[in-house]
Amino acid sequence: MDQAQAKKQIDALRDDLDRYNYEYYVLDNPSVSDYEYDQKMQELLKLEEAFPELQSKESPSQRVGGKPLEAFRKVEHQVPMLSLANAFGEEDLRDFDRRVKEGLKVEQVSYVCELKIDGLAVSLRYEDGLFVQGATRGDGTTGEDITNNLRTIRSIPLRIDLKETIEVRGEAYMPQQSFLALNEEKERNGEEPFANPRNAAAGSLRQLDPKIAAKRNLDIFLYAIGQWEAGTLASHSDRLDYLRELGFKTNPEWRRCQSMDEVIDYVNFWVDKRSSLNYDIDGIVIKVDILDYQQQLGFTAKSPRWAIAYKFRAEEVVTRLYDIELSV
Ligand code: NAD
Repeated sequence: MDQAQAKKQIDALRDDLDRYNYEYYVLDNPSVSDYEYDQKMQELLKLEEAFPELQSKESPSQRVGGKPLEAFRKVEHQVPMLSLANAFGEEDLRDFDRRVKEGLKVEQVSYVCELKIDGLAVSLRYEDGLFVQGATRGDGTTGEDITNNLRTIRSIPLRIDLKETIEVRGEAYMPQQSFLALNEEKERNGEEPFANPRNAAAGSLRQLDPKIAAKRNLDIFLYAIGQWEAGTLASHSDRLDYLRELGFKTNPEWRRCQSMDEVIDYVNFWVDKRSSLNYDIDGIVIKVDILDYQQQLGFTAKSPRWAIAYKFRAEEVVTRLYDIELSV
């Protein structure tokens, strides 16, 4: 392929991806599957790598996610909320493992594997033990203040037993039963149903009237700590335990793995078992456990070098209960 052909293809991919992003993040109403989106993004990344002179700061490959909405107050994230690099198969995971070990110059690394909850990334800020602010990820630097909506999620503690300021991060989601009930109601009222639970959760949390979010039975899993000056824990797994001790809801399925082989077993287990969950997952997140190692590896502009998201492939996308119910 020559440069002119590459440019034409890159422009077309950028136009498509910009449109998909707008539909997904702003309208909460995607027109293509995540798999299709990810394929186009990979194609764009490959072309941009092969033709670096065609790279541009405005490319959708260079952004974390959505623009903040206009209506909510803006929140600046003290620690950026980034995206994750993707893996689509065992080879990508083994490459990641190699890069991590080379970067750290070590022979063995422990990883934490977590379910990748298909919801909306949010941050919760506590000051003097009180929940004072909740925000969306937005573009990673600036999010929307959705505190009033998040306060309606019953599993979010409004008080915790910790005086120091702490910001915890997680994924707000809509359980499948709530999603089915909501779409049934929408259809009864002649309204357009939501495409999937992720978009329903995002749409609910971005309503200006918190009474609407309160009716939607949303839930949350917390999986990270953002800003926390007083933090002393040495590993991500210790942090997950600590979050649970503080009263946050963490996902019980996470595992600490001593090798990439163990990680791959965990991934394969969930490829088969994901349909047994009552919430959607779109992959597995793998994180280097030791925080010192995370710090040594650092970040690219878009994502940490110490974590990767394994995305389930299209053929692994099982028919879910609501696919059946919506089609009858
Ligand atoms: P991502 O889906 O690759 O993963 C990063 C996100 O995973 C984090 O920000 C967090 O929100 C989430 N996450 C869930 N569980 C987690 C855990 N245990 N630990 C850490 N993070 C966890 O990246 P993204 O930037 O959020 O979204 C991009 C993806 O969205 C695309 O790859 C595509 O699948 C989808 N998308 C689809 C369309 C469409 O039109 N269908 C459009 C835009 C984006």
